[in-house]
Amino acid sequence: MSHTFELGAERRWSSRYSVGERLWDSFRTFGRDRYGDARLMVVVDEKVMRLHGETLEAECGESFRECVFLQVPEGESSKSVSQWKRLTDALMENSPERGTPLLAVGGGVTGDLAGFAAATLLRGVPLLHMPTTLLAMVDSSIGGKTGVNHPAGKNLVGAFHQPDAVFAQTFFLETLERREWINGLAEVLKYAAIREPQLFGEIEEAAGQGFVPSPRWEDLIHRSARIKAEIVEEDALEKGRRAWLNFGHTFGHALEKIAGYGNISHGEAVFLGMIAACRASELRGAPVDAGRLEPFIPLYRAPYGRYADRVPELIEAMKRDKKVKDHTIRLVLLDRWGEPRLVPCEDEELIGEAWRYAFRNINSTPA
Ligand code: NAD
Repeated sequence: MSHTFELGAERRWSSRYSVGERLWDSFRTFGRDRYGDARLMVVVDEKVMRLHGETLEAECGESFRECVFLQVPEGESSKSVSQWKRLTDALMENSPERGTPLLAVGGGVTGDLAGFAAATLLRGVPLLHMPTTLLAMVDSSIGGKTGVNHPAGKNLVGAFHQPDAVFAQTFFLETLERREWINGLAEVLKYAAIREPQLFGEIEEAAGQGFVPSPRWEDLIHRSARIKAEIVEEDALEKGRRAWLNFGHTFGHALEKIAGYGNISHGEAVFLGMIAACRASELRGAPVDAGRLEPFIPLYRAPYGRYADRVPELIEAMKRDKKVKDHTIRLVLLDRWGEPRLVPCEDEELIGEAWRYAFRNINSTPA
């Protein structure tokens, strides 16, 4: 079984998104139809190459006239200007042409870095994504944001560059570590909160059956990707509604910053952030019970307790978030489940109470 949809049709760009266990046939057909007898530049996460290199070489080799494989070291530190330069130099050595497609195979790190290389090489070559983490399948491969980090902050150097297509093949997830599944799960829960609360029950069932690829996960990935695509289509250049995708993230980014990147994963921080955002919504009178996220709390085990008495610092970090405007913290809150709204919020008492509620309710692994 597989699912496919188109996004961006009738706009200046269009992308196709497919998810299924294995999609090599449609990858081949798409490649031939779109690029003819082309060469392919494959930028792949080193770990994914170690685990799935044989399959990748065989399948890409059958689909394109010639394939050049370039590996990216695993980990966030690869999203750097120096790695972008290294990759661009290596791509240049292979004499790419304007029409030579670049395929990014890996998680969000590889997708963002390779996407930025594709956006800048010869002022833009065609981009294909083959996401291999849950997060990349439901989030980073969709929407066209590419980029690298800068010493001044995360994702500060980048460009919008829409992929021609995304092929999310769930067989890759067989080798994904549990912590990475949980990381991506936070984004799936976010989509349930901001657009489709019926998903909560289905996510609980899927998680209850374990973190291994299945038609149930395929369905959840498909529906999550669709939600992201719909929101992006409504606001491709991030002028308004796309901010909804930051539900839980203003809190989460502050926690990641205070904890030091790497001590608490993005998903762990965003999960706590969503509990706080639900509580803040509730405190503003919305019929949103933050307890709805409770069944997922046992999955998120991080040293949260270490930061529970640092709420004033966390609020200061929120004020420094790059999405802050006129020094006012802007939060994505819910009017009800499935109905988000961007709210300027000066009530630091309320924000503090939301943080304290979240810390009281979350598990904490011993410091
Ligand atoms: P990641 O790319 O670092 O992957 C996580 C880990 O999983 C890495 O160690 C990687 O080697 C490993 N891995 C990948 N696929 C695997 C597989 N199939 N089997 C085993 N291991 C595998 O991290 P991520 O969580 O996928 O992405 C995070 C990045 O995405 C961040 O840099 C974030 O800024 C970015 N992001 C971008 C967007 C966007 O719109 N562009 C949206 C959300 C997040």
